[in-house]
Amino acid sequence: MPNKEKLPVLYLITPCYNEEKVLPLTYSLFLNKIKELVKTKTISPDSRALFVNDGSTDGTWDYICEIAKKNKQIEGISLSRNRGHQNALLAGLMEAKDHCDVTITLDCDGQHDINAVDRMLEKYEEGNEVVYGIRNSRTGDSTMKKVFSELYYKLINAFGGEIVTNHADYRLVSSKVLNAFSDYKEVNVFLRGLFPLVGFRSTTVNYDQFERVAGKSHYSFSKMLTLAIDGITSLSIKPIRIITGIGIFVAFVSFIGVIYSIATFFAGKTVPGWASMTCTLCFVSGIQLISLGIIGEYVGKTYMETKQRPRYIISERTYKE
Ligand code: UDP
Ligand code: MG
Repeated sequence: MPNKEKLPVLYLITPCYNEEKVLPLTYSLFLNKIKELVKTKTISPDSRALFVNDGSTDGTWDYICEIAKKNKQIEGISLSRNRGHQNALLAGLMEAKDHCDVTITLDCDGQHDINAVDRMLEKYEEGNEVVYGIRNSRTGDSTMKKVFSELYYKLINAFGGEIVTNHADYRLVSSKVLNAFSDYKEVNVFLRGLFPLVGFRSTTVNYDQFERVAGKSHYSFSKMLTLAIDGITSLSIKPIRIITGIGIFVAFVSFIGVIYSIATFFAGKTVPGWASMTCTLCFVSGIQLISLGIIGEYVGKTYMETKQRPRYIISERTYKE
């Protein structure tokens, strides 16, 4: 249970990639929320909003430095290059874990309703170590994204991955969980699938998703597909088992085919079967190529994991380490 005597130190962590249009509109949301919660004695005055610059190529980092200079509750770290949303979140979490009792991650574009922070903290005070934000509505997302995401949650759960439906990365995690989580050294990070694996007492809180205040989403269809494939292959080896199953099935059918052709040969009924041959060939080679692709995905992941490269490098901070 959280220590009732001492107010918890909260870090609001937000990843930013080329968000110079967005930050001037949203940074005060984070700052004001921290100030408000300090005032109501919900959190400690040592609480901070931590902005993670994910290798932006616009003025995002300069802006973060500027607001950090003016407000002591704002801090920033900058990654040496763009490492993607998941790694940026990870960098923020690992940076914050030794300075705070509890973290909340949320997007910097105003899509995540900041007022859910209060309810997440209430759940934390009740003894939960992880609180997943669940979106009620998905304002601001295209129909394609909504359909794709529904299918994806179904698929990943069918493949044995444990993810909370309609949870993006708006989440409260205590430093206790983060300390346990720091032993998960994998390079392919898919945070929303990993926290359920770490365990600890958890619950959910609902929130409304709004439109992005400015700029455009960084998740193109191909990036979403990559995240989806990474999510499944980093959590489950079921796809490989399915391939083995298909292999056994095709081998069985081929065996019957061989017996049939030998029988027809001896019966003297062999006819030129071009069409059936072509169909079989296309079908089997299609299956083989897809199977190789899936296996290749795992081999590639194993290769990247064995290298043990750093998942991110922090090049600058707005404060001294
Ligand atoms: N983001 C990031 N690195 C990236 C892409 C996105 O840090 O390579 C951040 C981005 O600035 C935002 C959050 O991740 O705070 C979610 O991104 P976005 O709003 O583009 O995605 P969507 O909400 O459309 O899924
Ligand atoms: Mg967004």
